[in-house]
Amino acid sequence: MNKKKLSIGFTAVLLVITIITLIPRKGTRLNEISGQTMGTIMYHVKVVGHPELDFEKSIDSLLVVFNQALSVYIPDSEISTFNQTGELSHPSELFTDVFERSQAVYERTDGAFDPTVGPLISIWGFGPDKTVIIPDSSIIDSVLLLVSMEKVDYENGLLTKDRNVQLDFGAIAKGQAVDEVGKWLERKGVQNYLVEIGGEVRCKGLNQDGRTWAIGIEDPTVSQFETRGLAIVNVQDRSLATSGNYRNYYKTEGQIYAHIIDPRTGYNARHNLLSASVFASDCMTADAFATAFMVLGLEESIQIVEDDSNLDAVFVFSSEGEIDVYVSTGITEIIELTETLAE
Ligand code: ADP
Ligand code: MG
Repeated sequence: MNKKKLSIGFTAVLLVITIITLIPRKGTRLNEISGQTMGTIMYHVKVVGHPELDFEKSIDSLLVVFNQALSVYIPDSEISTFNQTGELSHPSELFTDVFERSQAVYERTDGAFDPTVGPLISIWGFGPDKTVIIPDSSIIDSVLLLVSMEKVDYENGLLTKDRNVQLDFGAIAKGQAVDEVGKWLERKGVQNYLVEIGGEVRCKGLNQDGRTWAIGIEDPTVSQFETRGLAIVNVQDRSLATSGNYRNYYKTEGQIYAHIIDPRTGYNARHNLLSASVFASDCMTADAFATAFMVLGLEESIQIVEDDSNLDAVFVFSSEGEIDVYVSTGITEIIELTETLAE
């Protein structure tokens, strides 16, 4: 395990991914667009060259199609229809892609990642109704009966489920949308681009200066009103997704309750792992594992990363009141920890 020790204290944290273009613009023209999708999530796309491409409209409509398939907030979306009727014949490619990838990560993580976790999310006050009532164990036990990928079947083009089971791909959809935009750009002949939706990123080729795209991972120990880099990673032809329990949580009676739930116990995933930034060849996989790792905790996550050549990770965790960072061996050459942290 390649650990770099940080000499800063642990405070309540916020970690965001920002895109850092290290060097000033020159040479090839950079096409940049940004907008909103999935409610209020910001997206940014950078394309090197291709001034002829009017990609803003196309990306917007691609994201509309995406949401119409997979958003649980759209009542007649494909996923909402399935949740209501319990049956879906010949799901769209978007649906089968995310379903099959979810199933694979569910299996690989022994159920730590589970897109049927929705009813648990709701009783903990992270669903559409944000009322906070800490559920008692009998409620949790009864809701747990509705949570399991085993209760959803996909055979001969027909998707079925137990009546009250609900699917929600919220922990993987941003990553999948990033991939969809990236793949669309590739079909248009774009070889150098960066796509980012809500902090999940996919990079291809080089930036406008002919250098690797540099992605900043921010220091989780500063307040949400400041920014300080934790590391810069030079990413080529790879994706990166981050999960953490610091951004979406509430505090009541001195206890912190965070939005990632362990589907096997029904309780919040609480570990010394503060954030998981995961690298994979596609963003959907990176996104799913980032969430799963917050459930599994540091040790099990390191094991999975070390066993899988497609995965790399940066884990920020607390240890005896200090912050440590784990960097997997596959990225030690392309990551630079910032001065403050590397000392
Ligand atoms: P973020 O939205 O902060 O980028 P994630 O990608 O980790 O974070 O997704 C978190 C969301 O995933 C939660 O808000 C919840 O809807 C859902 N979720 C929570 N726990 C799990 C889990 N164990 N498996 C799958 N989805 C989960
Ligand atoms: Mg995720």
